Amino acid sequence: MKIEVVTIGDELLLGYTVDTNAAHLARTLAAEGVEIERRTTCGDTAESIATAVRDALDRTGAVITTGGLGPTSDDLTKPSIAALFGRTMVLDEEHLAWMQERWRARFQRAMPESNRQQAMLPSGARKLVNNHGSAPGIWLEDDRGRWVAMLPGVPREMRGMLSDTLLPLVRERAGTGGRVVRSRTLRTTGIGESHIADLVATIDGGVGDVGLAYLPNADGTDLRLTVRDVAPSDADARLAAAADRLRTVVADAMYGEDGADLADVVLALCRRHAITVGVAESCTGGMLGARLTAVPGSSDIVRGGVIAYDDAVKQSLLGVSPDQIREHGAVSEPVVRAMASGIRAALGVGAALAITGIAGPDGGSADKPVGTVWIALDLGGDVQARRFAMVGDRAEIRHRSAQAALEMLRRRLLDGVRVAR
Ligand code: ATP
Ligand code: MG
Repeated sequence: MKIEVVTIGDELLLGYTVDTNAAHLARTLAAEGVEIERRTTCGDTAESIATAVRDALDRTGAVITTGGLGPTSDDLTKPSIAALFGRTMVLDEEHLAWMQERWRARFQRAMPESNRQQAMLPSGARKLVNNHGSAPGIWLEDDRGRWVAMLPGVPREMRGMLSDTLLPLVRERAGTGGRVVRSRTLRTTGIGESHIADLVATIDGGVGDVGLAYLPNADGTDLRLTVRDVAPSDADARLAAAADRLRTVVADAMYGEDGADLADVVLALCRRHAITVGVAESCTGGMLGARLTAVPGSSDIVRGGVIAYDDAVKQSLLGVSPDQIREHGAVSEPVVRAMASGIRAALGVGAALAITGIAGPDGGSADKPVGTVWIALDLGGDVQARRFAMVGDRAEIRHRSAQAALEMLRRRLLDGVRVAR
């Protein structure tokens, strides 16, 4: 089965909102073996919605829309599509009562009058449950089996409704014969994509009959393996075989799969070795601490840290000497080492990470251009430091710095495991 997606909203056309809904729909449906034939975006007028959906229906007979289900005057999706199906809009008493009760229970006040509009449904429509908001989704089908599923624009509501309610319906009608498109992503960091490509070229037979995409980003390079139009069991086996081959060459540069977060991985390693962590951050201004503490349950490992942005703070709280700063500059090996050791002593942690660098856009010089970052790890008094040349703008340099610090600790702990064995 082929499906078309129509995303609705002036903000999408104007470029103020990135169309993440279409991307999510494409990924999720592909995993079910359902191909998105075409994606269209249209504005918030009845005319353009009707035209876009009519054309899509004519081509495939199966359309998913997002947006324009809300209670405001720019939300015209339902009446426009109802008209295409020759349906009138009728008040769904059940949904109205549900909304009124929701307002009373959750907000302790009467429902705004404009929300009544959300209970107006095309006659003969099937409601798709919204567990994350007040607008129901709508499924409209004609006697020829052509259908349109209307989902909310708010991404969280759209995703919830897709997985809770719409996917089972699509599966029922798709008749994909169980064939699927499946992907698996290996996440690497600290190694460039061309370097990885060279390594992959050394694998005899490559990754086999599996698609391989290199996806560089501020975390590192993700390697996405994809198989199409195969039976689920076959898909998993082929992906596993390809992943094994890749792993042999990328080795330790790989820190996880799919949505893996390096901070999470590092914390798990620290937990295994019963090592507490502290941070001293200059150019990242707390991003490393934020990455670590964003992981649920991090409090047993992460003690805390110091944002030592100003040189005076590097001296007073971390014990960096004025001489070191004067002689070598704040972005230098002696200073980053002193920062790491200073925070380790101050917090009494097993592992301390320190970052000092030039995030730009100003502040660079010939021998220390923007992107120069020193990172140090003090693990039980054993200090290692490394200079990095980060690329990107200020935000990327800061993100890459936090990531590189996490990676330094991960590598060190991996080596530690090996030594211990
Ligand atoms: P509401 O009940 O909030 O009005 P709705 O179903 O009418 O929801 P819209 O009004 O179109 O949806 O959009 C609601 C929010 O969701 C807006 O902030 C919009 O930017 C965002 N949004 C809409 N469509 C998309 C999309 N395709 N991708 C990402 N975000 C979107
Ligand atoms: Mg709206």
